[in-house]
Amino acid sequence: MTDKLEKTIWDCAVIGGGPAGLTAAIYLARYHLSVMVFDDNTSRAAMIPMSHNHAGFPDGISGPDLLAKMRAQAQRYGALIQGSKVTGIEKDGDLFKLEFGGDTASARTVLIATGVLNRRPPMSTTAHDEAVARGVLRYCPVCDGFEVSDRAVGVLGTGAKGFKEAKFLRSYTQDVTLVAPDGGHDLADAERRGLEELGIKVEAGPVISIEPGEDIITVSTAARSYAFASLYPALGSDVRSGLVTTLGARVSDGGCVAVDAHQRTSAPGLYAAGDVVIGLDQISHAMGQAGVAATAIRNDLCEIEALVR
Ligand SMILES: Cc1cc2nc3c(=O)[nH]c(=O)nc-3n(C[C@H](O)[C@H](O)[C@H](O)COP(=O)(O)OP(=O)(O)OC[C@H]3O[C@@H](n4cnc5c(N)ncnc54)[C@H](O)[C@@H]3O)c2cc1C
Repeated sequence: MTDKLEKTIWDCAVIGGGPAGLTAAIYLARYHLSVMVFDDNTSRAAMIPMSHNHAGFPDGISGPDLLAKMRAQAQRYGALIQGSKVTGIEKDGDLFKLEFGGDTASARTVLIATGVLNRRPPMSTTAHDEAVARGVLRYCPVCDGFEVSDRAVGVLGTGAKGFKEAKFLRSYTQDVTLVAPDGGHDLADAERRGLEELGIKVEAGPVISIEPGEDIITVSTAARSYAFASLYPALGSDVRSGLVTTLGARVSDGGCVAVDAHQRTSAPGLYAAGDVVIGLDQISHAMGQAGVAATAIRNDLCEIEALVR
């Protein structure tokens, strides 16, 4: 056993093995702190077939490749990665006690990097994952709107979310259709006028099937079928901040974890970074927040006890 494995109290437990959690683990391990990463293998980054906007990879990098490189980098400096879901957390004096896979771990600080889950259109998991892998189903116009430039694009949604997503995509292509999933749009007058002015088509739905093909996705309503190069669901997402609320730390109305400029939550010793915090929902932002969080953790621990070798 290594010195690190023998430790029973971790300097930091990182919950989440996506870009935020792994960046923090790299920083923390290189600050000579002991760090355990918990990862239940549901990173949004793992779904990225090829990212073309992540700086430093001009030919693109897939989400799984990026995560594998980051895991190897964190492990090189001594971070341990535990492939388990954290199911419970509580404060035990100055320490945090975490429950996972029938076991427990203690840590002086905790970084929450649990991300969000996109709400999915009604499709089987297999059809969904194949469609994402082929790029006919996309979740992030900030990431990959460029890839659908001048192509026919559908946006599945309505209301302010659907309107904003359709408007955003209009800067890439003239051919945008906003499709109401359940039948009937819930759009304010100003939004309807905005869609008309921008030449965005409006389909009232309801959607009866979504069939991914090799390079198109067919969206059918009772009235007609649309063949889109890509469909963007604008159905919102669920923030994975349950562990934070268990500890009584503040979250926003939408469930995002509230943090200060150094990624500290309102609960002492508890930090958060990445999509779980309000932000751009991008790898670069998750990494930036994680670097700030890890450095705050290091400096806050140093206030309690000098870090010397
Ligand atoms: C299809 C798709 C394409 C995208 N393309 C791009 C792109 O090209 N460029 C870009 O910048 N961004 C892209 N994004 C967005 C990007 O994936 C996210 O912004 C990024 O993954 C956020 O990192 P994160 O670490 O905050 O969260 P995540 O990557 O979602 O990681 C969260 C981690 O927390 C873990 N977890 C959650 N709860 C628990 C628990 N209780 N116990 C243990 N582990 C837990 C999960 O297993 C996971 O490891 C894309 C997203 C999608 C869905």
